[in-house]
Formats: sequence, structure tokens, C-alpha cells
Amino acid sequence: MSTIQTRLLAVRARIDAACQAANRSPQTVTLLAVSKTFGPDAVREAYAAGQTAFGENYIQEAVEKIAALRDLPLQWHCIGPIQSNKTRLVAENFDWVHTIDRLKIAQRLSEQRPAHLPPLQLCLQVNVDGGDNKSGVPPPEALALAKAVAALPNVRLRGVMSIPEPTPDFVACIAILASIRAVFDALNAEGLALDTLSIGMSADLEAAIHAGSTMVRVGSAIFGGRSYPA
Ligand SMILES: *Cc1c(COP(=O)(O)O)cnc(C)c1O
Repeated sequence: MSTIQTRLLAVRARIDAACQAANRSPQTVTLLAVSKTFGPDAVREAYAAGQTAFGENYIQEAVEKIAALRDLPLQWHCIGPIQSNKTRLVAENFDWVHTIDRLKIAQRLSEQRPAHLPPLQLCLQVNVDGGDNKSGVPPPEALALAKAVAALPNVRLRGVMSIPEPTPDFVACIAILASIRAVFDALNAEGLALDTLSIGMSADLEAAIHAGSTMVRVGSAIFGGRSYPA
């Protein structure tokens, strides 16, 4: 078995154990393999181990990788920031976008989504702990943005995503994840019918699953350390 296959099995075992500890079915948590900075061969190895959903941060890098892997039935998630001049590439190449924090970007994605493709699946990125410079909509603005995005054609609002600041303290980590979950619950209480809570990475997937994550985004625990960041 390859190293990537071995690591994938270990990550799936962590997810199963975390689900068991939280009294949840493992089927309620989707594993998104974050393949940024790794080439098509690494993705092929993960696919050989049964992984089909992949996350990418850099649009240009992702578009090349997606093209090189057209022969495989993969699902591609954009989890990086999107500038206006990149929305067309995203609308044409990805299945999901997790980083919606401005209506303008969602409008462009909706307008540019090719008619032959299914609706682009979207998550709002919320910022519960950062300063003004951090990506993500502040929780008080999330409802208005969610309603506006949900009204667009060619896209479907599926949930909430967040990238909390890393904290080594499990209790503090749980509190921040719970505040993200609270935004998700508040939007659903307003009738938005969201099914995706995209939180949890290599270091905090157990805490995220405890907090109700339905999609964990795991990179280094599957593919190894990255030689360049983000
Ligand atoms: C890189 C990245 C991940 C994966 O991080 P790891 O710590 O390698 O698991 C998850 N989400 C986002 C938004 C990322 O940029």
C-alpha cells in the first residue's frame, strides 16, 4: 500500500472514532482531501484508495490538475479565496465553492456557471474569531448574505464553512467551533435548509466532528507536509 493510501485509512479511522465518541454515524461526515501543492499523481493514489472529493486553494494550479484528471470521476471543491477575475475559471471547473463572503462573487459565479453543468454548490465562509482583515463574513451579516445567495440561479447554497485560528487548547477550540455551529443553526432556523458544516482540518477534525462538522477538509494528514504554505 502506498503512503497516501495508508494515511487515508488512518484519517478515516480518526473520523470513525470521532463519530463514535460523538454518537454520530460516520456516514454523516464527508472527507474532503485537500490536494493543494500536490500533483495529479498524488490525487490518483488517493482515488485508488477510494477518495473522490478533493479541495484546492489556488485556482490556476487547480484548473491544470482538474484537466489532467478528467478521466476520473472526481468532485472538486474550491476552498481558497477568489478574486473577481478568477470567477469564470471557478464557475467552469469546480463542483463546490466554500469561500463565499461577498455577494458580488456569488453573483458572478451564478452568471458564469455553464448551462450544461449542475448548479454550483456554495458555502458561506464565516469569520468568528479574526480581525477585519481575515476572509469570511462576520456572523451578524451572515443571514442577509445567505438569503441573497440562496435567491441566485445556477448556484445552490449548501452550508457554512470556517477556518478558525489554530488553538492548541481543546476547550478553546471547541468554543470557537461551537460559535460556527451556532451560525449554521441560526441560518437553518431562518429556513435556509443547509446540510453542510465545513469545519475541521488535520489538527482539529475530532473537535470539529464533536461540534457537528459534516465535512472535514484534510490535507497534510493525507498527503504529508507541504513545501509551500496555505
Ligand atoms: C490547506 C487547507 C486545509 C487543509 O489543512 P491541513 O492542516 O493540511 O489539513 C483545509 N482547509 C483550508 C481552507 C485550507 O486552506
